[in-house]
Amino acid sequence: MSGAPASVATAGSAQDPAVAVLGLTKRYGNFTAVDGIDLVIARGEIVGLLGPNGAGKTTTLRMLSGLLHPSAGTARVAGTDIQRDPRRAKARLGYLDEEPIVYPNLTGREFLEFVCDLYGVPGGAERRDRVQRLLRLFELADKQDELIAGYSHGMRQKIGLASLLVHGPEVLLLDEPTNGLDPRSARRVKDLLQELSRRGVTTVLSTHILEIAEALCDRVAIMERGRIIAIGTLDELRRGTDQAGASLEDLFLTLTGGPESRALVDRLLGEGTAARPVGGRSGRAP
Ligand code: ATP
Repeated sequence: MSGAPASVATAGSAQDPAVAVLGLTKRYGNFTAVDGIDLVIARGEIVGLLGPNGAGKTTTLRMLSGLLHPSAGTARVAGTDIQRDPRRAKARLGYLDEEPIVYPNLTGREFLEFVCDLYGVPGGAERRDRVQRLLRLFELADKQDELIAGYSHGMRQKIGLASLLVHGPEVLLLDEPTNGLDPRSARRVKDLLQELSRRGVTTVLSTHILEIAEALCDRVAIMERGRIIAIGTLDELRRGTDQAGASLEDLFLTLTGGPESRALVDRLLGEGTAARPVGGRSGRAP
């Protein structure tokens, strides 16, 4: 159930896990946002980070991506220590922030070309073809010559996702990848990640959509207050909590503090706060 300690392996060796985290910690003053987590993820695995708001999921992903320096602990991503050799590690990973970093004054196609340049993807027919395939994959081909400034939220999310794939990363770190996507696009992202997994690409993603985690992830890690309080396959989590047949939602609520929200909502709203029932008297004075 719990993450085994990370093994120390030679950079890039076949035995190297895709992600190996040991004692990873982030403190802000006296507050500990991520509290000494250990995590080992095999190549090709899809692992979901779940947890209540503020549990430390984004902070963990940002540390793994090299955007944020840990206060303590180590993280190896794609066989490379992200602190010791961030350039090399970043060349092998793709990171999607909760607010995708895109340039509104570029068109979708220009943005992908720009990211290709950043990663040193050689120009030419092969690169143009790759960009076009990504634009088609994310159903943005007909918008490719429009400025990103005019893209909807979901379209920005999709061009952000497309931009992660231009350099063929080994590890994807995705903060709420289906945020803002319509059901068809969300399904496509799920299919894409599963296909990439079959090709050996590893994904660590955070999500609040438990159906996605259930359908997509090989294992889930449930975080609370900066710690991983449970990790495993759905069956392992069921066995660990003695809840045969439980859904991921049931397990999540059990592990993170109980499902009594209806009673709580009733109590907090109190008499007179709720809107009148549909079909009741109008609010106007007679
Ligand atoms: P959500 O599901 O709401 O996105 P999360 O699990 O991703 O939450 P984080 O964004 O990692 O949570 O935040 C973890 C904790 O760290 C929160 O209590 C947050 O307020 C705190 N935190 C994050 N960034 C900072 C910062 N720059 N300074 C101080 N505290 C921070």
